[in-house]
Amino acid sequence: MQIIQKDVIIIGAGASGLMCAIEAGKRGRRVLVLDHADRLAKKVQVSGGGRCNFTNRDVRAEHYYSSNPHFCKSALARYAPDDFMAFLTKHKIAFAEKEGEQLFCLRSASLVVHALQQECIKFAVEILLGHPVKSIARPEAFEVMTKDATYRAEALVIATGGCSYPKLGATDFGLRIARQFGLNIVPFTPALVPLLFSERDAKHFAGLSGISLDVEAACRNHRFRGNALFTHKGLSGPSILQISTVWRAGEEIVVNLVPDTDILEVLMNHRLSAIELHNLIARFLPKRFIQAWCKAYAPSRPLNTYPDKELKSIAGMLHEWTIIPAGTEGYAKAEVAAGGVDTDELSSKTMEAKKVPGLYFIGEVLDVTGQLGGYNLHWAWASGFAAGQVA
Ligand SMILES: Cc1cc2nc3c(=O)[nH]c(=O)nc-3n(C[C@H](O)[C@H](O)[C@H](O)COP(=O)(O)OP(=O)(O)OC[C@H]3O[C@@H](n4cnc5c(N)ncnc54)[C@H](O)[C@@H]3O)c2cc1C
Repeated sequence: MQIIQKDVIIIGAGASGLMCAIEAGKRGRRVLVLDHADRLAKKVQVSGGGRCNFTNRDVRAEHYYSSNPHFCKSALARYAPDDFMAFLTKHKIAFAEKEGEQLFCLRSASLVVHALQQECIKFAVEILLGHPVKSIARPEAFEVMTKDATYRAEALVIATGGCSYPKLGATDFGLRIARQFGLNIVPFTPALVPLLFSERDAKHFAGLSGISLDVEAACRNHRFRGNALFTHKGLSGPSILQISTVWRAGEEIVVNLVPDTDILEVLMNHRLSAIELHNLIARFLPKRFIQAWCKAYAPSRPLNTYPDKELKSIAGMLHEWTIIPAGTEGYAKAEVAAGGVDTDELSSKTMEAKKVPGLYFIGEVLDVTGQLGGYNLHWAWASGFAAGQVA
């Protein structure tokens, strides 16, 4: 079979792979990008609801989870949110800031993919889509076998992402390659993912699909303020997606349903009134929700029929609604996969495997998981940029 020589082979034409290809291409390297999908960067295309939340104005290591929380610092220090904004500006792509300093395209995420593609063309990066990799060997240089050819290069970059959203072509390929070369991994788990109600909660709340509340959700010492959205099966929305990344099976999630109100004070101020409990609380929460909640925890009566002790307990439950999810909606609905190649195996400056010179891992395939808000794409750009300077 034909052997084609390149300087750098990148597997994965997604966010990190394309960024790395552009940077290596700028250095005059002969770059080949292989992807099994039929289109470029499918996740970028659908990201941010089609508007691509491409970064965040405030990117710090604190916004990432990893077995080594310091690992991401070096790459983040060398590729800032301004760098990606400058890239978009150069390509005349308009963007705007939303709540939480998140930056989104004003038009379509596909413009970002088009801009990445244009840069690849400019720097003579060859991209082969619809090219699954059959195997990788390393007699001396890396040899990547596809059904038509073998590609050989001194540098191999694995940019195949996490395994969430398999319908967009996601796989655990990166972890399999890491294992093949003897590198440790932290198993993938679904993250930024909707949670499922327990059987008991489903009975009371499954009918509330579409209702959204502004809450503070907490799990262990993690807290996130934002909307919680009822689905047919459980809870989603930004605060729940954020908490899902740190939640482990069997753990409690405590939801403050009225984070801006001292609800005990409200109840005590009305304790002599004949207003129904759910009608009073409906001033702060959607009526359908509070009716269901009262049915589950505190059958509604006129306020003046509750002893103070019971009002205290009701207020406590509204500030600390405690649920134990039955699980998550899994990879099919997870925005990212947490876990990945163990960062101890890699140089934080170059993303190169310490034990296997020339082998690089970038993007979501690494054990670096961003919070919601543009952090995962920013990690893809920053880690791709880092490897692209040296590969
Ligand atoms: C629905 C959705 C919305 C999202 N929205 C946002 C957002 O707004 N902001 C944000 O920061 N993050 C968002 N994310 C997360 C973000 O898209 C990813 O973290 C990011 O794309 C990861 O970049 P990557 O380069 O590591 O992997 P990807 O961009 O996923 O690219 C991996 C590439 O590898 C290819 N590949 C996989 N397996 C193989 C294989 N075996 N052989 C060959 N090729 C392979 C894939 O086809 C793909 O092209 C979203 C994710 C999803 C699913």
